Amino acid sequence: MTRDFDAIIIGSGPGGSTAADILTAAGWSVVIFEKGRNHLIDPADPNRLASDFSNDEIKFMFRHFLGPDPLLEPRTFRRHDGEGDRIRTGEVNNVPSTVGGGGTHADGKVPRFREEDFRVLSDWGPVDGASVADWPVTYADLEPSYAEAERLVGVAGDATANPFAAWRSGPYPMPPGAPMYGALLTAAAAEKLGWHPYPGPTAANSVPYDGRPACNNCGFCAFFGCPIHAKGDPVASLRRALVSGRAELRPETFVSRIVVANGRATGVEYIGADGITREERAGHVILAAGGMETPRLLLLSGFEHPLIGRNLMFHFQTYVMGKMPVRVHGHKGRSVTHMHDDHLVPDDESLAAAREAGLPWFKGGMVEHAGPAHPIVEARFTPWGARHKDTMRASEMREHLWGFCMQGEDLPQATNRVDLDPTVRDVRGFPVLRVTYQPHRHEQVASEYYGARLEECLRLAGAEWTVQHTSPGPFDPVPISRHVAGTVRMGTDAATSVCDPWGRLHDVPNVIVADSSPFPTGAGYGPTLTLITLAIRNIHALAGTTPG
Ligand SMILES: Cc1cc2nc3c(=O)[nH]c(=O)nc-3n(C[C@H](O)[C@H](O)[C@H](O)COP(=O)(O)OP(=O)(O)OC[C@H]3O[C@@H](n4cnc5c(N)ncnc54)[C@H](O)[C@@H]3O)c2cc1C
Ligand code: SF4
Repeated sequence: MTRDFDAIIIGSGPGGSTAADILTAAGWSVVIFEKGRNHLIDPADPNRLASDFSNDEIKFMFRHFLGPDPLLEPRTFRRHDGEGDRIRTGEVNNVPSTVGGGGTHADGKVPRFREEDFRVLSDWGPVDGASVADWPVTYADLEPSYAEAERLVGVAGDATANPFAAWRSGPYPMPPGAPMYGALLTAAAAEKLGWHPYPGPTAANSVPYDGRPACNNCGFCAFFGCPIHAKGDPVASLRRALVSGRAELRPETFVSRIVVANGRATGVEYIGADGITREERAGHVILAAGGMETPRLLLLSGFEHPLIGRNLMFHFQTYVMGKMPVRVHGHKGRSVTHMHDDHLVPDDESLAAAREAGLPWFKGGMVEHAGPAHPIVEARFTPWGARHKDTMRASEMREHLWGFCMQGEDLPQATNRVDLDPTVRDVRGFPVLRVTYQPHRHEQVASEYYGARLEECLRLAGAEWTVQHTSPGPFDPVPISRHVAGTVRMGTDAATSVCDPWGRLHDVPNVIVADSSPFPTGAGYGPTLTLITLAIRNIHALAGTTPG
């Protein structure tokens, strides 16, 4: 059966759930299509949150509990066209495919972007080989929506702690949660070097908030669903939308095509859990399938703008780890509690290093203070045999490895892209998405420059030895970053952008993109709070309501 809705929302992750929340609050009726399974919420009684999540490494990290299963829904990868159709088939930058999307999996570090992140071209200038651009919106345009995003999701943070943060109209809704012990050691060392570590803003309740409990620092945060629903992202938005009675959630339902007639979308074609293809109609289509599946669906639907899928960005991750002599208890906490932003902002020294490397400038990214802390992963790295138990008890990795992960800003390049693989098909028979990607020299130079400084900091914190690793890197060209953006660039000119500053496709304006695909540049921060913020601003504009 089909009935007309005011809007169809494709994807129930942070972007789609936010759109559902804003639209239903404005009185719209919406249907949310989600290709993954539902382990989050009871659609019949949305106040009842599911209890399917657990601190189970095998379930989440190896058995694809939250999907997608790379055998059923593979992706392909190559560095450049010269490598042929692909060099890898399988798991490529997968973000969970489930009700709640990647928000269920993320550990939710949610800082705002800085003011200059919206005007990189104007402030820092072009870089050869990269398509650096200003955003068509400013931080000031977005500030009220950032404030609303933090309130709706529930963010814990200290507004005074980070001197690099942009101005804000008010405090965080909650104070920061308890710090991790390892982070206190590296934060103290960073301060000695004149850096400015701070308790990272996190979408995890530090106190009971919005009818959900405070986080108990169970230690299984990144890569796991929260067993007590202390993570706000995106369960809070989805619950409100469903409780309104104006939202219908359809899990295990794959949208295979956006149907367009006379320059307007009339609805979508979808395949339900029963395998039957049907059509649903609506006045608007909100496309929130994530930074990679959104361009794939546009291409599957026959959209032809030449920039669809281009300017794909990740984060260039620099890991610096060291062995700490004391036990750091990395298995207690929210995966990351402290960060520093000093390497996001070019200074005289880094500008000189850039010139020496033949670049006009470079930027690093936010640095997370963290360690690997899960027993099954450690066991896999620990040689088998009689000494296995002793080595696991001594826990060189879980208890003693600690360090940094820098989320380096990845410059947009038109040649880095998502398109449809010419021959590989998913379980439903549709072409899978193919990633063509290699980093710019900018990211590599920034990583070498700041990596050396992070090693120095770790030694100052007491590390007996240190080691560096990057992703992508010499051993694996596929970036493991799950921060994806840029594939449906926004702008005012339809020749150089796919959607307008309100997320509307230039070619079909009643299709509104509500994820990180429109970002013109990626910044050195996780994309999630900013994509939620952009969705809040754009969906309020669609509904004729006001953010704040
Ligand atoms: C382990 C981990 C840690 C992370 N940590 C952070 C962090 O600390 N900070 C941060 O900012 N970000 C983090 N991220 C990234 C974050 O998860 C993503 O930025 C965020 O989930 C993107 O939200 P989205 O709504 O755009 O897309 P998604 O969360 O990807 O949601 C899109 C949804 O659409 C569905 N979908 C796709 N195609 C279709 C279709 N054709 N039909 C129907 N449904 C479809 C998908 O199944 C999915 O559920 C992390 C990710 C992971 C995996
Ligand atoms: S650390 Fe906190 S927010 Fe994260 S999964 Fe555990 S209880 Fe939930």
